[in-house]
Parts: sequence; structure tokens; C-alpha cells
Amino acid sequence: MTQRPRFPVTLDLHAGKPVATKNIASNGHATRTSGPNGTKTATAPVTRGLGLDSQAVRARMVQKLAAQGIADAAVLQAMGTVERHCFVDSALVNQAYEDTSLPIGLGQTISKPNVVARMIELLRHGHEGKLGRVLEIGTGCGYQAAVLSLLASEVYSIERLRGLHDKARDNLRAFRLANVHLLFGDGMAGYAKGAPYAGIIAAAGGEALPQAWADQLAMGGRLVAPMVTATGRQALVVLDKTPQGLKQSVLEAVHFVPLKSGIA
Ligand code: SAH
Repeated sequence: MTQRPRFPVTLDLHAGKPVATKNIASNGHATRTSGPNGTKTATAPVTRGLGLDSQAVRARMVQKLAAQGIADAAVLQAMGTVERHCFVDSALVNQAYEDTSLPIGLGQTISKPNVVARMIELLRHGHEGKLGRVLEIGTGCGYQAAVLSLLASEVYSIERLRGLHDKARDNLRAFRLANVHLLFGDGMAGYAKGAPYAGIIAAAGGEALPQAWADQLAMGGRLVAPMVTATGRQALVVLDKTPQGLKQSVLEAVHFVPLKSGIA
């Protein structure tokens, strides 16, 4: 099942709910609605609970990401554009731009910004323009799908928990991201209809990488996922599909929620 969010705008928090007050301009930067004298109107991006213009808070987050070693300018720009506070519960809005993972319900978490940026940087591995089709396993609240939508031609994002699939659809609705396709199902089987993928990114880690993911990767494509390694701990794994075969590299330790089979 495919759900397409409708409105092409980024979001502001207004009375705790996203409202469409900003548009992503053709350069990818958010533009703002302001009053006749440049004063902020009731719909200007002053976020309840955040207390500051969220654009400035995101700019600081991006500076930190760069200082932590994220070097891909396109990734930094996307991280600076997507309003992470619109994806977390109103009680957690003050922490939305801190480098921390946050609960999103049903025992799941939104990854910390540094991990999202790192994984997408790995996924792009120096691509000049946008990636082609990308598959995300574990939609969660939809935040990473929104970031990916700015960096890939099409994003297929699959979630096994109905409650989170619905939440992501609600969160993304006002963003008008026509290239994000939300799917409800078991991502361990990938999503064959969208294959082959230039990139596959998983936000949940299992004992092994499902064969379907490797099968659905395009030649030259890359998969980035957490996986339990020989040490019994999770690490980031990168799998490249090359004419010479699959090449796997194990990178730094990470802590993701478990990859589970079936739907719930
Ligand atoms: N990218 C998400 C992170 C969500 S956490 C975000 O930005 O919020 C990881 C998600 O993976 C959880 O919602 C969990 O339910 C989901 N998940 C775990 N196993 C899965 C599977 N086999 N198929 C699809 N989703 C899965």
C-alpha cells in the first residue's frame, strides 16, 4: 500500500500541530511568511516550546554535525532544512535539535541527528547529484524519510508497526513530499516493486542482512544498516554491490532498535 503525502511545504509547530507556513523554495531553503513590515505574523515560525526561531536552532545543529565530521554539504543542507521538531511529541520539542535519540512511541526511537547524517552520508558516498530510488526500512516517525526525500529521486519507506506507519503519514502530510512513498509491511522482504535501489538504509538492526536487500540493490548501489556482528554488538555495516560481487565493510558501533519480522 502506498500513501503519498500531499502538500509541498515544510512545517511549523502551531498550537502543537504542524501548519503549512513555510515553503521549500526552489533552492531547497525554507522561506517564511511574515507580516507587512517584516514582522512575524501569527503563522511565523516561532515554535511553541522551542522558544526560538527553529531555523537558527537547526543551523546550530548543522554546525555541530560538521564539527563532528559530517562533510557532505548536501547532507548538511538537508539536515538544516527538515524540521525535526515536527516529528517528536510536543513534550520533547525542546530536545528536538539535541544530538540525542528520542522516543516516538511503541517502544521505538528516532535516531540522533548525528547517526542520521552519518548513515545518509555513507549512503551517498560522494554522489554529486541526487541518488536514484532509495529504500528505507523502519519509517518510524518519518523524519529520516523526509531528509532522504531531499537527497533521492524517490524514497520508499516501509514500517512494520501500523501505529508508526500512521504517525509518519500524519507527520509528513503537510510537507508535500511527492517523492516519499510510505509502505506498511515487513521490511525484511524489502520492497520488490521499487527495486532496484541506488541505496537501501535500515533504521533497525538484525543478526544478518536479509538476502532480499542485497537482491534489490542496483549494481553500483549501496546498503547501510546496523547489524549484530561477531562481537555480539551492533555495528554499522556498508554493503556495496559491484560487478565483482558484494563488498561488506563493518564500521563503528551503534545502538538501534531490533529488526523484527512480521507486522503488528
Ligand atoms: N527512521 C526512523 C527511525 C525509526 S526506529 C525515524 O526517522 O523515525 C526503527 C523502526 O524500524 C521502528 O519504527 C521499527 O518498528 C521499525 N522496524 C523494525 N523492524 C522492521 C521491519 N522488519 N520492517 C519494517 N520496519 C521495521
